[in-house]
Amino acid sequence: MTLANKLAEERRARLAAERLLGQKQAELQAANRKLGKHALALSEEIHETRAVVRTVRDENARVKSDLNVAQEKIEQAERRLWHSINTIEDGFAVFDSDSKMITANSAWLSAFDELEAVQPGISYFEILQFATEEGLVDVGDATPAAWRKRMLDRWQSPAPEPVVVRLWNDEYIKLIDQRGSGGDVVCLALRITDSVRYEKKLEAARVLAEAANEAKTSFLANMSHEIRTPMNGIVGMADLLIDMDMSEEQQLYADTIKSSGEALLVIINDVLDFSKIEAGKLVLIEEEFDLERCTHELITLMQTNACEKGIDLIVDFDLFVPRCYIGDPGRIRQVLTNLLGNAVKFTEKGHVILRVTGTPSPEGNGTDLHISIEDTGIGIPAEKVRHIFGEFNQVENAHNRKFEGTGLGLAISQRLVELMGGKVWVESDEGQGSTFGFSITLPAVDAFDIETLKTPEGLNTVLVVHSHRINRAILKRQLEAMKLNVRAVESAAVALAMDRTGIDLILTEYTMPKMDGFELTEALFEASDLTPVMVMSPSPSKTVTEPAHKHVATVLSWPLQREGLLSALQDCADRFDPRVVQPETEKAPEPETKPEQASPPVDVLDDIQVEPLPSEAVTALVSFASKRAAPLAVPRQMRVLAADDNKTNRLVFSKMVKALDIDLQFATNGVEAVSLYENFQPDVVFMDISMPEMDGKEATRRIRVAQIRSGRQVPMIAMTAHAMDGDREDILAAGLDVFLTKPLKKDLIVEQITEACPPEARHPHPDVAVGQS
Ligand code: ADP
Repeated sequence: MTLANKLAEERRARLAAERLLGQKQAELQAANRKLGKHALALSEEIHETRAVVRTVRDENARVKSDLNVAQEKIEQAERRLWHSINTIEDGFAVFDSDSKMITANSAWLSAFDELEAVQPGISYFEILQFATEEGLVDVGDATPAAWRKRMLDRWQSPAPEPVVVRLWNDEYIKLIDQRGSGGDVVCLALRITDSVRYEKKLEAARVLAEAANEAKTSFLANMSHEIRTPMNGIVGMADLLIDMDMSEEQQLYADTIKSSGEALLVIINDVLDFSKIEAGKLVLIEEEFDLERCTHELITLMQTNACEKGIDLIVDFDLFVPRCYIGDPGRIRQVLTNLLGNAVKFTEKGHVILRVTGTPSPEGNGTDLHISIEDTGIGIPAEKVRHIFGEFNQVENAHNRKFEGTGLGLAISQRLVELMGGKVWVESDEGQGSTFGFSITLPAVDAFDIETLKTPEGLNTVLVVHSHRINRAILKRQLEAMKLNVRAVESAAVALAMDRTGIDLILTEYTMPKMDGFELTEALFEASDLTPVMVMSPSPSKTVTEPAHKHVATVLSWPLQREGLLSALQDCADRFDPRVVQPETEKAPEPETKPEQASPPVDVLDDIQVEPLPSEAVTALVSFASKRAAPLAVPRQMRVLAADDNKTNRLVFSKMVKALDIDLQFATNGVEAVSLYENFQPDVVFMDISMPEMDGKEATRRIRVAQIRSGRQVPMIAMTAHAMDGDREDILAAGLDVFLTKPLKKDLIVEQITEACPPEARHPHPDVAVGQS
């Protein structure tokens, strides 16, 4: 090989080596770059990992510290809990499902007087054993074994009832045990000694309060009796005095004694009623009563008072409301009397309207009655409306200071209505008037028979002549409900002047200004208008002396009772219906020639027995009396026995029956009454209840036994000053038929005697006795 070749070869080799070196260097550089990049990534990763590790480390440290804190808190809470559990005075223990004690606080353990054996691990049964053997509990009348059994049975029941245990030292604990999940039982032993003692104190106080309340009630009953007895003397004697001939001054004194006595009795009754209601002693009775009659009687009673003040007293008894209900008529009457009395008292002019409406109750158990009393009186300021229902509360202002009253009436009425399950309400405008009302639900005895409202046959058009707008409106509404055409005018003059064609009946008020109902009848008669006229008067019997009475078809008692009005209309329709052939004596075109045709209608005759009677009425009466009983040839005097220990009361009684034709004997106590009954054989017995030696109830029982033996029953009437509830039932239960409260009322006594008159005795009323013979 040549040098040149060699050199060329070397150069080539060197070039190849240089190329290889360059290539390797490039590769190295690339590897270096890759390595650099990787190192960078690695370092970043390391950095990140370090950060994460740092975070985790921090987190761990925090969690650890939190755990420590939590642990400390748990320990603290546990310490506190146990500290609390140990410091509370009540016992606390936990038992496992095998009834072994797991733990107990010191209070629980202290009940065992620090007996060492009583500690965690002891069984419940062993505890009971210790409790009885060491005399730690008072087992009462039971034997220790029986007591343990009872306690163990209770412990083993799924939900043990709390039980009170008395300890040896007169402390009381109440055991409350509760079964938890897993069968553990948590036990509480509450120290209730203080509350047991407090309860005992309360119980003793309650017994004392009840005794005091009973003493108060019996004091009230006695006071009522003690006050009523002398009041009977005062009011009764004043009543008798009033009937005597006296100078005007003496008459005034007697009237004052009587009215003051009666006012005092009202106050006593109010106070008594209120305390009875407050003591929860007022018992409502349930009996059938006629609400319509009751409202009319009250209106009639209040009429005098209202008339004196010039107030119109109006009753509006809805036509579709039943008449008779089951309820306590006495108490309903009391509420009505109070509301009506107030309305009249606080009204100077205008009217007072008593409205009765009702609807069948949705529950179907009776009628929802709404009774309201509307007046045009002084009214009540809005801010006082609630106040007046409070006891002894009155609207005190210059207007009403002059009015008398205890301020108890509304409080009593409200409570009575609430006792009946009802509500009282009031609406009032000061200076304009008030409406007081109440609603109660009462079972109706009979549903109102809509059939009775059918148009009286033969009547189409009625003319009402009444001076009072409201009364005209009420009458119009009632008559229209009977499907009659009604024309209503305000005076006799208008009635006379109008065209009366087509009118079948005229219904007019007796006392109209200028020309009254009878004068209108007379004027119609003179004008040859023979349309039947019915006059409405508060006292029909007093109208018989009216010259025009003979021309009137019927005198109706005002205020009208629906049934009375209906039957009078029907009666009138029958009597004057041209289609019905009338008996000769019913109606005549010429009264002058046939005076007997003017005989007063039947319902008037009912009212006028004490007035000179028309001959046919006397005949009817005599024949009625003779049908009732065939009198003996010489009827004997009626025998009346009255028992009363109080001399004044006996005197009052004898004076009250002075006018009667009777043989009266008195007994001064129950023993005398029984023996007089046997010897005297009275036809009626009046019996006082509180009497020395033997009271009226016992005497009645004995007399009733004697009556059963002899087969001769006579009425026995209680006369008592007892006004408390329950007395009535007690007295009637003793065998008395009727209950009269003192002060006695002459009319009621005379009525009882008259009713008791047997057929073989002379009528106690001398006048009727003459009629009979
Ligand atoms: P009394 O009427 O005995 O004062 P109440 O309890 O019946 O007691 O009435 C309480 C008060 O309510 C009355 O004193 C009177 O101020 C007021 N009041 C009751 N009814 C009416 C009425 N119809 N009009 C105006 N005020 C009345």
